Amino acid sequence: MSAPSRFDRGHTDDLMSFLAASPSPYHAVANAAERLEKAGFRQVAETDAWDGTTGGRYVLRGGAIVAWYVPEGAEPHTPFRIIGAHTDSPNLRVKPRPDTGAHGWRQVAVEIYGGPLLNSWLDRDLGLAGRLTLRDGSTRLVNIDRPLLRVPQLAIHLDRSVSSEGLKLDKQRHLQPIWGLGNDVRDGDLIAFLEEETGIGAGEVTGWDLMTHSVEAPAYLGRDGELLAGPRMDNLLSVHSGVAALAALAGGDLPCIPVLAAFDHEENGSQSDTGADGPLLGSVLERSVFARGGSYEDRARAFAGTVCLSSDTGHAVHPNYAERHDPTHHPRVNGGPILKVNVNNRYATDGSGRSVFAAACEKADVPFQTFVSNNSMPCGTTIGPITAARHGIMTVDIGVAILSMHSARELCGVDDPHLLANSLVAFLAG
Ligand code: ZN
Repeated sequence: MSAPSRFDRGHTDDLMSFLAASPSPYHAVANAAERLEKAGFRQVAETDAWDGTTGGRYVLRGGAIVAWYVPEGAEPHTPFRIIGAHTDSPNLRVKPRPDTGAHGWRQVAVEIYGGPLLNSWLDRDLGLAGRLTLRDGSTRLVNIDRPLLRVPQLAIHLDRSVSSEGLKLDKQRHLQPIWGLGNDVRDGDLIAFLEEETGIGAGEVTGWDLMTHSVEAPAYLGRDGELLAGPRMDNLLSVHSGVAALAALAGGDLPCIPVLAAFDHEENGSQSDTGADGPLLGSVLERSVFARGGSYEDRARAFAGTVCLSSDTGHAVHPNYAERHDPTHHPRVNGGPILKVNVNNRYATDGSGRSVFAAACEKADVPFQTFVSNNSMPCGTTIGPITAARHGIMTVDIGVAILSMHSARELCGVDDPHLLANSLVAFLAG
């Protein structure tokens, strides 16, 4: 295997395009698939019989994608090297009967998905995106990527306590976006509007999974442009780097089978048919073994030698709240990817996992940092422990340190995404 590919600022420019074009998990996996197709991967249907030939394949299921590359000479018991990530982000999602309003305002009824920083959704120009299901069962992506909605904050003159007591938002009453004016709100207005905007015939849409997004484009930020502001870095940053790393290895001669597994529903616990706590990844890995003529014994041998790097965002040290971090672990933006550790298995990393990631970073000439929570702060979690427990696969939690996690507009450094991608290439190469 030749030296891993080196990604640079071109990678960050491409990340900005990926973030902007992926306002929903369904768009994220479509954009991932498009990049993989360009690298020679082809889609396989779960309902078809699979063959065991060499090359790149991917499976799409809802807002999840699993892609893998079978190199020349792979045996049925050849182990996998997996990048795990998630495609969903906290946001406001459209309710089943969305058409509402009061006092001459048209409004869209929304539910809160995951744990967004609610204040970050106020007074932003919001678009609407997601998936429409048609009468014949087919699905269509939709993206109204212009200012369509807004959750208007109450003027300070009408809420003087906001200065002394802080902002208090009632999730039911205060977060319903407006999307225009009118007294004649009727059931079906929003879906009829989307049918018209997308050219789908009236009455054809029978199901929808729709969510709001900020229409503000990602941007370089800072004195020297050393920062990147944008939406959904948690965790499309990892999905994007994983796709780039897997695509860079296609055609290579590898001792393992590199895999990218990007799941939906991490932000609400991963328990779905497209979440990390579902059977999707295990099913794809097993079918890959069996399609190459493997037995259950081969499957067990392959899984026993497999390692998963679960990549997700983590917390960079915040200059205004440094005391919230562990005093000896202060991950910095642009300091390289982070290894995440928690002895109570909120992260799956152990000492052996650390050494796998350290070896990949050394091979890629990438510095890495370590994150551990302050003992007084509850530690977040991600798909790492779920993947380890569900499949019995050695898993290491890593990621990129950002600020403003779960805000509608997050912040990372410009170097970390390509440093992460370089470390993923080195890891996937075995
Ligand atoms: Zn995340």
